[in-house]
Order: sequence, then C-alpha cells, then structure tokens
Amino acid sequence: MDTRLVKVKDTEAIRDEELAEAAQILRNGGLVAFPTETVYGLGANALDETAARRIYAAKGRPSDNPLIAHISCMEELPPLVARIPEAGRRLAEAYWPGPLTMVFPKSAVVPYGTTGGLDTVAVRMPSDPVANRLIRLAGVPVAAPSANTSGRPSPTMAQHVWEDMNGKIEMIVDGGPVGIGVESTIVDVSGETPTLLRPGAVTIEMLRDTVGRVEIDPAIQEPPGADFHPKAPGMKYRHYAPQAELILVEGNMDSVVARINFLVKEKTGQNYRVGVICTDETRDRYRAGLVRSVGLRAREETIAHNLFAVLREFDELQVDLIYSESFSRDHLGQAIMNRLTKAAGYHVIHV
Ligand code: AMP
Ligand code: MG
Repeated sequence: MDTRLVKVKDTEAIRDEELAEAAQILRNGGLVAFPTETVYGLGANALDETAARRIYAAKGRPSDNPLIAHISCMEELPPLVARIPEAGRRLAEAYWPGPLTMVFPKSAVVPYGTTGGLDTVAVRMPSDPVANRLIRLAGVPVAAPSANTSGRPSPTMAQHVWEDMNGKIEMIVDGGPVGIGVESTIVDVSGETPTLLRPGAVTIEMLRDTVGRVEIDPAIQEPPGADFHPKAPGMKYRHYAPQAELILVEGNMDSVVARINFLVKEKTGQNYRVGVICTDETRDRYRAGLVRSVGLRAREETIAHNLFAVLREFDELQVDLIYSESFSRDHLGQAIMNRLTKAAGYHVIHV
C-alpha cells in the first residue's frame, strides 16, 4: 500500500479542506496517523471492528490490548458510555480537551473488538487542533493508539510514524512535532474510587485536586508479578523500549554521574557501543560514550518532550547498552519514570 504523507500548512489556521480526505478515509474504515498533544496516534473508526483489527495488524499489537476512543466534544461522549460517573464529569470539566483518558462502562455501540473484550471503554478528547478537527470532520469516534510498531518508543514526530507505518496505512497527517511527548494519563472512573492506570501530563496531584481520593494502580511503578492480572491489559506488555538494553541509575546526582562514567568506561573497554541519557545540567560531566541530553532537569516538560525521540535515536545509532539518569517521581516525573522503568524492563541500579 502507498502511504500518503500530508502536511498541515499552518496548525493555527487549519482549513477543513486539508483534512477532508483524511476524514473520509477514517469514515471508510481506513487508517490515518495524526498528531495529538501527547504523541502521534494511529486512527481508525472506533465503532468499526474491522477497522480496529487493522490497527492491531499495522502495529503488531496483541488484540487484548484495548484502544482509546477519541472524541472532539462533550456531546460525543454519551453515546459511547453506559453512564457518566460524577468523578468523570468533574475531571472532564477540568481537563478536557486535553491529555486525560478516562475509562467508563461502555455502551452497546462500542464493539468488543475495540475494547479488547472489556465491558469498559477508554475515552479521550484531544486538544491538539489537528486531532480535534479531524475527529469532528470524520464524524465518528476515532480509536487511536500511538502510531508506532508495538513495543517501540512512541512517535513524537511524523518522521517516526513514517519509519514504523510506511506501506501499512493509508495516510499520515504531519502537524509537526507534538507538544507533550508522553501518552495521556489514564484514570478508571468506572468503579467506586477513581484509579490512576497510567501517569501522564495530567498528574496525580492535579487529579486529587479535582476529585479528592484517587488510587494508584500498583502496576504503574512495579514489575508485573507471576499472577499479575492488570486492569489495563496493556500494562503487562513490554513498552516504549529501545533495541538496546537500557539501565537506569538512581541516587544523588554526583554518585549517578560517577557510576555512569565508570560503567561506560568499563563497557566501552569490552567493545560495547554505549549510550548515555543525561540532562543539560550534567551534559559536560560525561567523559565517554554517545551522550545525549533529554532536556533540562529544572523544566521536566522538556524531558517528557524529548524522551522518546532520544530512545529512537539510540536505535538508529545501534548502541548495545544505554545508561540513563533517573528523575523525581513527582508531578510529570511520575510519567517520565513510568516510561523509563518500563523501557528498561525495571533494570535500575541504586547508588
Ligand atoms: P495506547 O497504546 O496509548 O493507545 O494506550 C491504550 C491503553 O489504554 C491500553 O494499553 C490500556 O492499558 C488502556 N486502556 C484502554 N482501554 C481500557 C479499558 N477499557 N480499561 C482499562 N484500560 C484501558
Ligand atoms: Mg502505545
């Protein structure tokens, strides 16, 4: 299949004609990748099981890993859900449109082929102008997991999508680099107490400010045990991972830098190609290896923004090993550390 790449001229002043064909493809059961404020999504009609199956095929994604249905405005929510719990209503008021996904009891129109067989449906309303406009023009809810091959780092620019999806989907809409860079926060509001299933840019602190008590699913920071039955089936799969072995080093900054320098020297001596993930603050303190800064520690949003692109760059550089600095687990740091520890297969050295 020929994958067409369409560039949006000015994302501040989108013309409907630019997105008309993409919307038509979605309505007809085809696949279109498009930017959102979190990462690039791979879209298909969420109410069409056959279209959803094509998403799983293009990504190589296990079919029990449910998809998030994306809507453009509040009127599009009620048809998809059996009810809207009070916490869901309040969180929607506070954070929609935006990088928050909520899990609701599903209505009959949402096929099990979209929800991985679950009786719940995850819904998000993106704020990105291209995403929001495209969904509205399509006139159907749009299932849109990250537009990467399953298991690889999520795409934060159209080039990443092209690398993974060229030849497998009808169209890629290029709206430039995304804003946030990590996937949406997921909160399950279908039960008694809202539960955080995946941390993102809407932080646990923000959620608690809005609705009071919010539980945290243990799978967010811990490795899955043998009898692990996660609420969000996607949590059991290895995620976001570069091809190299990634190892996090956690502790006070001086010890972390010293240990990484030591390990890079040792492994380089054994003929490994070694990468280092650091920050602008520490960049000049590394002596060897392929050193890449993910941003400014003092501005965590820069780290979220660059993280996946740096992991992809290391794939291209074909390194064998990557040592990475660690980050605080508060606020946006919880999302950053969640992606990093998963990408590292929970391999963390404490110094
Ligand atoms: P993504 O790959 O970014 O589209 O993330 C989709 C993730 O959302 C899945 O891996 C699940 O963990 C989560 N998810 C989607 N639907 C549900 C649901 N009905 N219940 C719980 N988690 C869900
Ligand atoms: Mg994903």
